Amino acid sequence: MSDIINLLPDHVANQIAAGEVVQRPASVVKELLENAIDAKASIIKLLIKDAGKTLVQVIDNGIGMSTTDARMSFERHATSKITCAEDLFQIQTKGFRGEALASIAAISHVDLKTKQESDSVGTLIFIEGSKFIRQESVATPTGTSIAVKNLFYNIPARRNFLKSDTVETRHIINELQRIALAHPDVTFFMYHNDNEVYHLPESNLKQRIVGIFGKKTNEKLVPILEKTPIVSITGYVAKPEFSKKKRGEQFFFVNNRFIKTAYLNHAVKMAFEGLISSAHHPSYFLFLEVPTSSVDINIHPTKTEVKFENEKDLYAIIRASVKHSLGQYNVAPILDFNRDASFDTPYKYKDVKPSEEPKIKVDSNFNPFENKKTSSWESLYSDIKDVDVPTSHESGDFTDEELFSQTEKFSGVKTQQLHRKYIVSTIKSGMVFIHQNRAHQRILYEDFLTKMTVGEATTQQLLIPIQLQFDKPDVKLLIEFRDDLESSGFLFEQIEDEKIVVKGIPSQMKETEIDRFFQELIADQAEDFPQSNFGQVDQIAKILAKNSAIRVGKTLTQKEQENIVNSLFNCKEPNTSPIGQVCFTTITINEIDKRL
Ligand code: ADP
Ligand code: MG
Repeated sequence: MSDIINLLPDHVANQIAAGEVVQRPASVVKELLENAIDAKASIIKLLIKDAGKTLVQVIDNGIGMSTTDARMSFERHATSKITCAEDLFQIQTKGFRGEALASIAAISHVDLKTKQESDSVGTLIFIEGSKFIRQESVATPTGTSIAVKNLFYNIPARRNFLKSDTVETRHIINELQRIALAHPDVTFFMYHNDNEVYHLPESNLKQRIVGIFGKKTNEKLVPILEKTPIVSITGYVAKPEFSKKKRGEQFFFVNNRFIKTAYLNHAVKMAFEGLISSAHHPSYFLFLEVPTSSVDINIHPTKTEVKFENEKDLYAIIRASVKHSLGQYNVAPILDFNRDASFDTPYKYKDVKPSEEPKIKVDSNFNPFENKKTSSWESLYSDIKDVDVPTSHESGDFTDEELFSQTEKFSGVKTQQLHRKYIVSTIKSGMVFIHQNRAHQRILYEDFLTKMTVGEATTQQLLIPIQLQFDKPDVKLLIEFRDDLESSGFLFEQIEDEKIVVKGIPSQMKETEIDRFFQELIADQAEDFPQSNFGQVDQIAKILAKNSAIRVGKTLTQKEQENIVNSLFNCKEPNTSPIGQVCFTTITINEIDKRL
């Protein structure tokens, strides 16, 4: 048999490696910004075109490269940052794998311009898909400029996989924020399609946080400072009243490198226990300094996941020091004498497991009919307080046809409200239990979608316009959405870099929900959800429906109950809420017969 194993040519190996390092334009941004920091730049400019799909360029005033190094830098495993395996245990720089430039150059067109202080002229190099095109001498300031154009031009599948410009820009901004927070002594500029997004002058950490997240952040921050032999912690947490519904401003840095860690995030969350509801997320900017030998940053190619030698101690120390600072700044409730004193001595804290996140208790044996067989129907509904009842995740077992015939039967049928949560009604085959909130979300969602699509949305003018404050990029994002928002009934304008004024809202919406609506819209953009086919209109309709729908706990009049039942079964997809939760379930006569 003949031999069948080949060594892959370099450009193919680089393309494969690129898949790991470069998922989207934001990955390029991260690598280039990190290289600029490693090159000791004090001013870094990030230029983006079309959410980075056309151009990502980083210009720095760092140490630059010699002509030979400039050529070398695009080779795989070419790095100036480590020389032997032992160096891996004392990494001081952001990069060290020597993979980024080779990977990026394999899947884009790259222009590199660079000059060292000691040289009078610099070097300009053009590379396309790992192929060296040409090199020239060029007059250029000391430092480096790398322009990455047409990302994924030779991997159409990856290009198609990219999300909307809004989403990709959000990812880029996230990367910039992480690096800018870790390096407040560096000046950053960011331009998107020639518009300035950020100008962050050299500053201290607090000013940097305010520069990024807006002036309103200033009064929210509580400083954290803790020094122990295994870790030093500095940074800020936001006071509990500023915690958010969505995970937003949560930043952990280890030795000045942004990391993601669900475990340590939990430690902070536990420090806020009792101060915020479990549905809220605290905001924090925490910097951990640990000995380089006690942390392994090598486990993930993009280096946002790390492994700690003494994770449990870190957990305890973080939890205790955040709790302590919240208390000191008078934001914790009066001392709790019942608390577990072991939490106050975290340094001996070795084998304590983190407490579990609270789960919703569902009593699967709950049977509303138990012991009530002799009671009349009415007595089942009287005296019911707002208690939790189990929700069924089974969907109704109707055919569409059956449903239709049932909807007609609703008109005359009396309905009942159960636990201020479900609307109960008899149907041909037995009984139906409708979740009042989910059903109403479905009804409003389809209604908003139709009105937005046919341009029939109605606006209620606000007597007193409401001003809302966001950070700069978020205001830009809302302006991008303006057409779709207006088609749903909103009227608003930008009045300052960080402020909008809302003058009108969709007629079904409550004034009290305005702030939350905008917060959720912005937060959803930052998340990496696959976008639905309808895109933004769909998303706006979903969030509007969610915020305007009748909540669980609200008592409904007979008329309201009947309206919901009838409108739900007039919907195109009555089975689930806009986010896919089951709207109703049924119990058939057969099932009831079996029980009796
Ligand atoms: P790594 O950062 O892991 O070393 P990269 O592929 O990102 O690998 O970069 C390769 C090398 O190119 C770096 O080690 C550095 O010597 C050089 N380099 C890259 N970007 C810059 C820059 N902006 N300024 C100076 N040198 C740079
Ligand atoms: Mg690098």
